[in-house]
Formats: sequence, C-alpha cells, structure tokens
Amino acid sequence: RSENKRILITGGAGFIGSHVARLFVNKYSEYNIFNLDALTYAGNLENLKDIEKSKNYTFLKADINDAESIDRLFDEYKFDRVIHLAAESHVDRSITDPLAFVKTNVIGTLNLLNAAKKAWKEDVKDKLFYHISTDEVYGSLGQTGFFTETTAYDPNSPYSASKASSDHFVRAYGETYGLPYIISNCSNNYGPNQFPEKLIPLFIHNIMNNKDLPVYGDGKYTRDWLYVKDHVEAIDLAFHKGEINETYNIGGFNEWQNIDLINMLCQIMDKKLDRKAGESAKLITYVKDRPGHDKRYAIDASKINKELGWEPSVTFKQGLEKTIDWYLENEIWLDNVTRGTYKDYYSEQYHSC
Ligand code: NAD
Repeated sequence: RSENKRILITGGAGFIGSHVARLFVNKYSEYNIFNLDALTYAGNLENLKDIEKSKNYTFLKADINDAESIDRLFDEYKFDRVIHLAAESHVDRSITDPLAFVKTNVIGTLNLLNAAKKAWKEDVKDKLFYHISTDEVYGSLGQTGFFTETTAYDPNSPYSASKASSDHFVRAYGETYGLPYIISNCSNNYGPNQFPEKLIPLFIHNIMNNKDLPVYGDGKYTRDWLYVKDHVEAIDLAFHKGEINETYNIGGFNEWQNIDLINMLCQIMDKKLDRKAGESAKLITYVKDRPGHDKRYAIDASKINKELGWEPSVTFKQGLEKTIDWYLENEIWLDNVTRGTYKDYYSEQYHSC
C-alpha cells in the first residue's frame, strides 16, 4: 500500500497521536503526513517540536465536529488514507460531560466517515479509514478470560459507549458504502507525553510534587498496560499489512491491579528521587470509587501476534523506567500542561473525596 502518500492523522497533537505522527513522518519520507487537531486541553504542539519543520509534515488546526471544514480539507488535500485518533479520551470527564463525548467521538467520527466516503466515492482502491479504539468497548471481565475480536460489545461508561458507537459506525460504513476500514482496540497506554490526568502520569506528577496519590475504591481494579511506542508499532503494522475490514485487538499481555502498579511506581520513584524506601507510598490515599467502574480488562492480542507478527518490545518495568525518566526530564512540559483550566478540573474532580 506504499503508493498512497497523503495520510491524514487526526488527534496527532495528543498523546498516542503525536507518537503515531512522529513514527510516520520519520519512517516514511515518501508520505505526506497531515496532522488535524483542534488543540483541546489534551492537544499540545509541544509534543511535535522535533518534527514540525519536516518537509513531509503539515499541521491543520480543525475541529472534527465541523463537517464543512472537514469536507473542505478533504477536497483541498486529497487524503488517501486516514488514521483517526482524535477523541475525548478521559473516562472521568465523560461522567461529568457525556455530550462532549458524543459530539467528538460519535458525530466527529461520522463527519470524517462522510468526508472520506464523498472524497473516495469514485475509487476506493488503496484507500483506508483506520479507526483507533479501545478495549473498554467490551465492558468488564470477571477474574478470568480475555477480550477477543469477537467478544460482544458491552460498554459501561459514557466514554466507552461513545467509542463503541464510533466503532459500529466505522464498520457500518464498510458494510453499507464499501468504505475500506481497519479498527484496532487497544488496552491502556502509558508513556511520554501523556496528559497527567491519566493514572500513570498523574501519579508520577503527584509523587514529584509530594501530593496525595488518589486510589479509587479498593485499588484492585485490573488493567492491561502497553507502552505507547509498542502500540504505535502495532498501528504501523496494521496500517500497512492488516486485512481490510478487520479488527485487531492490541494489548501488552501485562495485567496489573492498580495498587500493585502504584506500589511499583512508588518504589522506582523513591530510587530516582533519592528518597527513603517507602517514602512515596506514604502518599497513597484511597478515594471514593468512580461510578460504573469496570473491574477488569484483559486483551487477547493473539490475532495481531500470529497474523502480523506483532509483540510488545519492552517489559512493564522497562517501559515505566523510560516513562518516569521522560517526565523527570520534561518538568517544563508538565508545568505547562498542568497550568490553568486543568488545575480547576483537578480540584473539582477530587475535592469531594
Ligand atoms: P488524548 O486525549 O491524549 O488526545 C486526543 C487528541 O484529540 C488531542 O490532541 C485533542 O486536541 C484532539 N481532539 C479532541 N477533540 C477533537 C476534535 N473535536 N477535533 C479535532 N481534534 C480533537 O488521547 P489519547 O490517549 O492519545 O487517545 C487517542 C485515541 O486512542 C483515542 O481515540 C482513544 O480513544 C484511543 N485509545 C486510547 C488509549 C489510551 O490508553 N490512552 C487506549 C486505547 C485507545
């Protein structure tokens, strides 16, 4: 599929999107990469400083909720392929403002699908709408079992309901209008450039600043964690070698109960910050649970492993070390993103706990 050269990445100023944009810009000089992002609180062009001057990279500030702009950009730039990551991505925010999630994640995705359908109607050969989604669409697991690509959707939070809906629309556009698509559903990502409202960067940031570490419920929620660069390698593979109209589950084969993960994080941070062993763990504070909190997610990633040869390249400990080092070396980035509106959100989110 290398003859297609005009690739639209949506949400490329966010956490995962910026790593996708960097890999595609650096690895495929023959592609023109267009990064479309509305720069919400989660989008940050600082994430892309190293590639912003690259010849094959263009930033387009636009909102996927604005159908007219999206149509116009498809007309003007003639994208052949889309990697769609733009989304409202934080579960807690979806509980306080579900409509924002329907707007961007559902309607925004529809706007992109409609634009692609119109632009590609003459010839869908070698076109692709690659939709990036989450394992949260499958709902919650008991103590055993894994999500596979055929697990029924059973979303529990407004975030996962909006992502599930967008997945269904992508598949429906494939079936109804013949739009070539791929969907991948990935487990929890962590790594550099993640906005510090998500568990791992939030806790790194709080440990650095001697602030409480708010642990939901009994701390026994279980998640599968994947280093962001391993997710991006999987996206690269699925984009180039995946079967059209297929879904791939991506996961780290790496399940952790929150409290065990947090204790490991505290131990590594104690060493990095020259603190006494056990010092950071003293900051752990149990807080009121998140409503509708899914107990356990676990991905069976054997399809992408067997069919495309993908597997994670780093262990959890290695990935966490790299992540912590990045946050310790990028305090200015952290200061910038935690200023202003984020502070209000943070105190609103945790003040009643
Ligand atoms: P993020 O919140 O860090 O970034 C989202 C980006 O989308 C930001 O740059 C933001 O400015 C942009 N955006 C938001 N609304 C927009 C709009 N209306 N128009 C244009 N741009 C808009 O999110 P992330 O964690 O990087 O997640 C990226 C994608 O991957 C999402 O679709 C998410 O559902 C999916 N995903 C995330 C994870 C995870 O653990 N973070 C796991 C699996 C799947």
